[in-house]
Amino acid sequence: MSLCSRTSGVRDVTHRAAIVSALVVLALLVGGRWALGREPVETILVETGPGMPATPSTSAPPDKPRTPSPSASARTTPPPKAPKPPKGGPIVTRELTGSRKVALTFDDGPHPTWTPKVLDLLRSKGVKATFCLVGTEVHQYPALVARIVREGHTLCNHTWHHELDLGTKPEAEIRANLEATNREIRRAVPGAKIKFFRHPGGMWTAAAIKVSRELGMTPLGWDVDPLDWKKPSPEAIRTRVINQARPGSIVLLHDGGGDRAATLSACPAIVGELKRKYGIVLLR
Ligand SMILES: [Zn+2]
Repeated sequence: MSLCSRTSGVRDVTHRAAIVSALVVLALLVGGRWALGREPVETILVETGPGMPATPSTSAPPDKPRTPSPSASARTTPPPKAPKPPKGGPIVTRELTGSRKVALTFDDGPHPTWTPKVLDLLRSKGVKATFCLVGTEVHQYPALVARIVREGHTLCNHTWHHELDLGTKPEAEIRANLEATNREIRRAVPGAKIKFFRHPGGMWTAAAIKVSRELGMTPLGWDVDPLDWKKPSPEAIRTRVINQARPGSIVLLHDGGGDRAATLSACPAIVGELKRKYGIVLLR
């Protein structure tokens, strides 16, 4: 009997504890939603994956006698206070062109093998694109940056060394990184306009957005991602792009960061089909 009543008492306590837990969870959910709703910016980012590996190319990092690494100055800054990057957090990036036409973006270059081929293709199709450049690659291949600009394409800052976690660093470190990258681009092309910033892997944070805007760059997202950096077949890349594209899409492709043979091979069909269905516009 006593065992039975004790068990019943335990059940009672468990039951009460469950109700209290449920109330606490409910309160947290309501509070969390309220807090999110009060964020000053709207959630439109849909992050699809971790993006590229941290190292943009397999080549040895170049020595950087002319440009001090932004991380050097960061070593003297206090430990990061910024929160972990939100996954698809309350962050606004540009993901549409603003018209029916779609836009092409190429990340992680310039690359000595693939960027010239992409440029040749774009020229032959009469299409302009946006190139999201990595500072260390710009340092190695400045002539390619000059060609990109000469042929009328738009530039986008893609950090100094493709640091996936840059957005979690203190603002001073983010700023130093983006400024070093812009300096390197302008060393290659004096006075070059750098209209956009794209965070590696799309791992945006509020701090990264803020700093890029302060430096006069629009945070550039995308809404079409064929994951070409994972090296699927050209046909898979083409199919994914065409299936995901809609009026105003911004398409993410890669001309750097590794072997881009599949991307290059998919590009003529992608460009042809997008041009026919929507038209292709240069982001401004
Ligand atoms: Zn990238």
